This record gives sequence, C-alpha cells and structure tokens, in this order.
Amino acid sequence: MLFVVSGPSGCGKSTLIARVMRDLGDVRFSVSHTTRRKRAIEVDGRDYYFVSKNEFDAMIQEGRFLEWAIVHGRHYGTSRVEVDEKDAAGDVLLDIDVQGARQVRASGRPASFIFIMPPVFEELRRRLLKRRTEDRASLSKRLADARGEIGAYPEFDFVVINEDLETAAAELKSVIFASRCRPGSSKERIEGILRSFSRERGRR
Ligand code: ADP
Ligand code: 5GP
Repeated sequence: MLFVVSGPSGCGKSTLIARVMRDLGDVRFSVSHTTRRKRAIEVDGRDYYFVSKNEFDAMIQEGRFLEWAIVHGRHYGTSRVEVDEKDAAGDVLLDIDVQGARQVRASGRPASFIFIMPPVFEELRRRLLKRRTEDRASLSKRLADARGEIGAYPEFDFVVINEDLETAAAELKSVIFASRCRPGSSKERIEGILRSFSRERGRR
C-alpha cells in the first residue's frame, strides 16, 4: 500500500523517511520526477529523476503521472510506473506536497495520508537555514508557501509533529504498522484464512 507523506518544506520529511527506511527495510521510496536543479548531495535516480521542463511536459501529455504539481515554482510528479512497480513488491513511501496528496486521494488508490508538522514556524526557518540548500528567494518562497500548506493538515489521516526526531520517527513507523492492520491491507492473507475456515466447516 501507499504511504503519502506531506508537510511544509524543511519540516523533516526526507529525514524521517530515511530513518524509517533504515529501520524497517521492507518499505520502498517512490522517486519523483522534478524540473528543479539537483542539490550537491543529491543523486539522480535515488533522490529524484531530474528532468527538463520539456521532458516533464511530455510525460504529462502521455498521462504518465499518478499525480503532479507545481511546488515552490517547480514541477514535481510521481510516475505511475514508479509507484506500480514498487507497490507490487510491498509498501511505498511518497514524499509529495499537499496538492499531490489530494490527487492521490482522488485516484481512489488505497493509501495512508500522513502530515508532518514542525513544532513551531521559527523552527521551520531554522531547519531550512541549517540545511543550506536554498538561496534567499527560495527560502522566502518556501516559508511563505508553508503558511498556506500548514492549514491542510485536517485532510490527512495522521499528523506527526516532528519536534524530537526519534519520537517522530517512532510515530511514523507506528502509523505504518497500524495501517498494515487495516482489513483492506492484507486482503489476500485474510481471504486465505477465510478459505481455511470454510474447509473446516465442510469437514464437520
Ligand atoms: P523536508 O524533507 O521536509 O524538506 P528535511 O528532512 O530536509 O525536510 O529536514 C530539514 C532540515 O531539518 C535538515 O537539515 C534536517 O537534518 C533537519 N531536521 C529534521 N528533523 C529534525 C528534528 N526533529 N530536529 C532538528 N532538526 C531536524
Ligand atoms: P524539495 O525541492 O525540497 O525536494 O521538495 C519540495 C516539495 O516538493 C516538498 O514539499 C515535496 O514533498 C514536494 N514533492 C517532491 N516530489 C513530489 C512529487 O512527486 N509530487 C508532488 N506533488 N510534490 C512533490
């Protein structure tokens, strides 16, 4: 099943996702396509597929995105093939913005929606500054956008407040474990159990 993780830039989504993947091992990360420039520490194909605007537009025309949006002035999208392949193998984590989360919800695909919040606005600014990835304009845009994004939290199934990293990572893992216990999440296994019951009935 899909786990959609959203929240303002700098709240700690990537950090939490990396922590959960390290600890759980059996979840995969959905690598998005983007037209923004690669950061020095990023790897093409691991953090994002970095593509030109023309390549991105072609993918939109061909209907290859499960969702896409313009975020902080750049294009970002989740390709269907990326999610379909990884979803077939197990659980998949998507780090996407609230516009994308709405599109995944509208698609009707089984998913858990998780909103990550910083403990306070000033801490978001501190974290974005500490990360040293944004120039002045991008930093201001991300902080301005955050004021709009934060209000979307009631649309999500779960909210994780990322104050202490260990606590937040434990909460995110708990959400994954709890979601796996939904009746719809282990359909095949449950159907097998039900079949075993009808055989039992037949014997008596
Ligand atoms: P996002 O993916 O949401 O944009 P990042 O994961 O890149 O955010 O985190 C932004 C910065 O905040 C990074 O420098 C990261 O190390 C730091 N950070 C993340 N979580 C915490 C936390 N709980 N406490 C302090 N710093 C954090
Ligand atoms: P960043 O540039 O910091 O990596 O990401 C900026 C924002 O884009 C974050 O809110 C992140 O969740 C969002 N984002 C990353 N990939 C996608 C995607 O495929 N689709 C959408 N809608 N948003 C994305």
